[in-house]
Amino acid sequence: MKSHRKELWFNAPSRRDFMNITPQVEQALRESGITEGLCLVNAMHITASVFINDDERGLHADFEKWLEGFAPHEPIGQYRHNDTGEDNADAHLKRTIMGREVVVAVTDGKLDFGPWEQIFYGEFDGRRKKRVLVKIIGE
Ligand code: ZN
Repeated sequence: MKSHRKELWFNAPSRRDFMNITPQVEQALRESGITEGLCLVNAMHITASVFINDDERGLHADFEKWLEGFAPHEPIGQYRHNDTGEDNADAHLKRTIMGREVVVAVTDGKLDFGPWEQIFYGEFDGRRKKRVLVKIIGE
């Protein structure tokens, strides 16, 4: 069995952002030389997510509104986590809602997606460098 590990770095210019990282994951898969196996992609930070959904602008606006409904950023003082002097309690909660990782089957050297599936990095406390781990195993 072969394995391949790669870190992808991102620096979102705003607090919150959704980025389609499918091309970078496909690049990692090509580098791996693996044609049959599994590809794990996970956020390495507790205030960011990796998830799969449609690359559609309206849907991303809907996610943003929906997440702000569950865990509004303001007022910061509503969260006990922010008693530590941080202001990112909402980002921890949004990360938990949107998930830590995805696993995609690798078939014939390609990510074996369903219709319209794309991999996204969800940033909830940006404006700093953060990492995503790609781990591919197979043969
Ligand atoms: Zn925090």
